[in-house]
Amino acid sequence: MGYEVVVDAEKCEGCEECIEVCPVDVYEMEDDKSVPVNAEECLGCESCIEVCEQDAITITEI
Ligand code: SF4
Ligand code: SF4
Repeated sequence: MGYEVVVDAEKCEGCEECIEVCPVDVYEMEDDKSVPVNAEECLGCESCIEVCEQDAITITEI
């Protein structure tokens, strides 16, 4: 069991809040957008969703 992590690049404004808050470093910045490069590490805590003012992040249990 794990989580699928998706960032809508159209909505992401590159504020880096999700990078700051994620306890397992799921995200990295690429071309001023947050990209979930380590989604397999996601704990499903949803902290990133709470801090993203653009509602750009979707976490789905898989
Ligand atoms: S918190 Fe949202 S808007 Fe900010 S970098 Fe992360 S995905 Fe983009
Ligand atoms: S749900 Fe938690 S562990 Fe998963 S990407 Fe967001 S902040 Fe990181």
